Amino acid sequence: MARYRGATCRLCRREGEKLFLKGDRCFSDKCAMEKHPYPPGQAGKKRPRESEYRLQMREKQKTKRMYGMLEKQFHGYYELASRQPGITGENLLILLETRLDNVVYRLGFAKSRAEARQIVRHGHITVNGQRVDIPSFRVSEGDLVGVAPKAKDLLVIKAAIVSNERSTVPGWLEVDIEKLQGSVLSMPKREQIDITVHERLIVELYSK
Ligand code: SF4
Repeated sequence: MARYRGATCRLCRREGEKLFLKGDRCFSDKCAMEKHPYPPGQAGKKRPRESEYRLQMREKQKTKRMYGMLEKQFHGYYELASRQPGITGENLLILLETRLDNVVYRLGFAKSRAEARQIVRHGHITVNGQRVDIPSFRVSEGDLVGVAPKAKDLLVIKAAIVSNERSTVPGWLEVDIEKLQGSVLSMPKREQIDITVHERLIVELYSK
């Protein structure tokens, strides 16, 4: 699958806020948003012109980048969300949150979504006891997501658990750190998705 290969911190600077794409570094003074909190490039420090379109575009780009997606795949999620009953913006966020890579990240088995994606791709994650190596796999209510037996001693997972010790797991998930396993208690509700995104703006942009 195609993916962004440029400088990761540049994405946060472009959006003007921390997107937490790099694990521990995001919480340290090495974070580029601490050192250069303005957009990259020569015109970075100039105040950009605000327009409705710009706000919608920025919100879409920010969400896409948070979940580590390129345009085609992200738009596919929007199309799917718009065909579902309910509020399209909320449906979109729920679809993104229930991706397996995001669930692995939310459970604390990875320091970032990018790291979670690698862990899944390398076959280190099981769903209901079966190995699943597709990061976009969508979990369902009642699913058990665990670290595969052979991967339980992996340093990358151990380091993530230590690093995430103080972070809380969202209410729609439950984690058993001893067993390196988590369960999906329910589908997430909008208020359980702690990202600062105005999803309505994304829907307005795509529905033009
Ligand atoms: Fe963003 Fe993290 Fe880089 Fe800071 S360190 S700019 S939060 S990716």
